[in-house]
Amino acid sequence: MKNHMKLEFAALSENEPFARGAVAAFCLGLNPTLDELSDVKTAVSEAVTNCIVHAYRGRTGNVTIECETDGNVLHIKISDNGRGIDDVKKALEPFYTTLEDEERSGMGFTIMQTFMTDFRLESAKGVGTSVLMSKRFGRNTETEVLADAE
Ligand code: ATP
Ligand code: MG
Repeated sequence: MKNHMKLEFAALSENEPFARGAVAAFCLGLNPTLDELSDVKTAVSEAVTNCIVHAYRGRTGNVTIECETDGNVLHIKISDNGRGIDDVKKALEPFYTTLEDEERSGMGFTIMQTFMTDFRLESAKGVGTSVLMSKRFGRNTETEVLADAE
């Protein structure tokens, strides 16, 4: 069965735990393991924090999260309408950050790629940034395989 949700909220740091928790609650229906749930929460936290910290720079703005399930796969799109990324290729490199003085480590995108099954970054200067990620939950696949074998 397919399921979906859309969430829009102000790009404020106090909304990051809310966003992370909302996505975690949404994907509970896919029967994730605790490790898988933790991976999704970490990736969402990094993507949302990027929108809050980098996208608007002192301006107000919104963050949008769209989630869709497809079998045992969760698709997540996290978007802002902020400044966009100057050099997408560079931004994806580990340890690259434009906010070194604020003690950012430049590992957000690397963490998202490590913790999720699929990852894509789309950004246009002055238009905004979208992170598209998927997570395949293994427990359901196993159940399906077992069910097929019976
Ligand atoms: P960390 O995530 O480790 O705290 P970071 O946020 O700088 O540090 P990444 O998350 O990997 O590292 O992002 C790399 C760079 O990409 C950022 O420093 C910033 O310049 C740019 N960036 C990331 N997300 C956005 C966004 N939503 N809008 C504009 N620029 C962004
Ligand atoms: Mg980051």
